[in-house]
Amino acid sequence: MTASGQIGRELEAVLPKERIVADTAARRAYDSDAYPIDRHPPDAVVLPETTEEVSRLVRWCVEQSIPYTPRGAGTGLSGGAMAARGGIVISTKRLTRIFEVDAANRMMHAQSGVPNLRLSQAAAPFGLHFAPDPSSQSVCTLGGNIAENSGGPHTLKYGVTYPHILQVVLVDPSGEVWTIGSRSGRAPGPDFLSLIVGGEGTLGIVTEAWVRLTPTPQCVETALVAFPSVRQATECVSAIVSSGVIPAALEMMDKGIIGALRAAFGLQYPDGSEALLLVECDGNDPERIADELATVESISQANGALELRRAQSEAERKDLWKARKKGIGAMGRLAPSIVTHDGVIPRSRLPEMLDFVYQVAAEHDIGVANLFHAGDGNLHPCMYFDDRDPLQVEAVIAAGEAIIARCVELGGSVSGEHGIGVEKSTLLESMFGPDDMRLQRIAREIFNEGDLCNPCKVIPNQKGCVEHRRRSRGVAW
Ligand SMILES: Cc1cc2nc3c(=O)[nH]c(=O)nc-3n(C[C@H](O)[C@H](O)[C@H](O)COP(=O)(O)OP(=O)(O)OC[C@H]3O[C@@H](n4cnc5c(N)ncnc54)[C@H](O)[C@@H]3O)c2cc1C
Repeated sequence: MTASGQIGRELEAVLPKERIVADTAARRAYDSDAYPIDRHPPDAVVLPETTEEVSRLVRWCVEQSIPYTPRGAGTGLSGGAMAARGGIVISTKRLTRIFEVDAANRMMHAQSGVPNLRLSQAAAPFGLHFAPDPSSQSVCTLGGNIAENSGGPHTLKYGVTYPHILQVVLVDPSGEVWTIGSRSGRAPGPDFLSLIVGGEGTLGIVTEAWVRLTPTPQCVETALVAFPSVRQATECVSAIVSSGVIPAALEMMDKGIIGALRAAFGLQYPDGSEALLLVECDGNDPERIADELATVESISQANGALELRRAQSEAERKDLWKARKKGIGAMGRLAPSIVTHDGVIPRSRLPEMLDFVYQVAAEHDIGVANLFHAGDGNLHPCMYFDDRDPLQVEAVIAAGEAIIARCVELGGSVSGEHGIGVEKSTLLESMFGPDDMRLQRIAREIFNEGDLCNPCKVIPNQKGCVEHRRRSRGVAW
């Protein structure tokens, strides 16, 4: 019997057989997340339904010294849900209960495998929604959002995931169950919840959470603005935010995305469009929102906009959002693989940074298109390539590292929302000094990190991680 067959059989002592998957096809399906460069199959995938089952599984892994990796929908873009050292993937696919919508107190209690969009759908009848909205929201899970401290198009106004999480139930790396945070939103003492949110599944497995719900604005105005150059579009972003208008969303797509959208879906934009800005303003006062959009329109004109299309109905609004929501899908036609890089810079540096991104991609002979949260200065250069060609893989890694290095030089960050995972574990030290790194290691020890819970992620410190890296990238850390 293979090692994975053996582990699968032994797991039957912990969980019913039908919730253990160890066949070759399933193991291959779980060998990466949406970061295609690092792959490793788990020995088995398990599908618990309760906190108690997760705790039992973790205790079993600890007893057997088997590494385990928490996984939601696997849409992560930094390799976080990939089983770098094999072992067990603990999937939250069946942790999908919404226990309660407490509309009076604007809270919801749900299991961590609930897809993001379902949270907002459940809150909608009460005029509420869950504000964090990654573009993957129809599938990505609450647990994944918490682990990555995810953002989304509306982060500019509503913030990333952390301020929307009140309390979590965590199974720590030894299997012990903790309730962390407070439903009142006020917990005295050190803020342990802020370590869990953004912990990338290295501090334990979140099984349930109480999330904050946000009133859904009554008035939303959306416009798509076309520009003849990326520079004019990026300068316009700074000008809009400096004017005092804080749009709910301020997203940018460049000509690579425009071309892919035309080819894939026949979407039409004005001739000569090299960049698009999607601008959304929301609130409860229609006059104020109309004023804000009028300000956006005049700033866009001053920055050379070719056209501003303003949605006149909900259907038109959805049409304008297609440019943003279908962009990555459209790129699927350009090449077999895409790596979506993620870095942050002060938004006033966007014009020079975009020039740099195009230059680096050209130097490495890699195709690049950009669609990103421009209002936050959160870049997403999307590199398209063939991951079966080792030279192209090397080029994508090198280009990504050069871009992230420039983000740090400009006073930004190595990650805005996709996390560190395995992708950037060697880059963290370019942003943090030895003292910061030491504190991060100590923070892990608080949760009894050991070396089994999501190994090789964020701060790799084991021999097995070096081997994984060598195997998947042909290089050592
Ligand atoms: C097309 C596309 C668009 C995207 N757009 C955005 C965007 O706009 N903004 C954004 O921030 N991200 C975006 N992402 C990235 C990704 O969707 C988010 O990071 C998302 O939150 C991951 O959720 P998931 O359920 O897929 O998590 P997974 O990919 O399964 O896991 C991500 C990480 O979380 C850990 N994890 C998962 N569940 C748990 C849990 N219950 N407890 C502890 N750890 C856990 C995993 O170990 C892993 O480290 C996008 C991805 C794609 C493919």
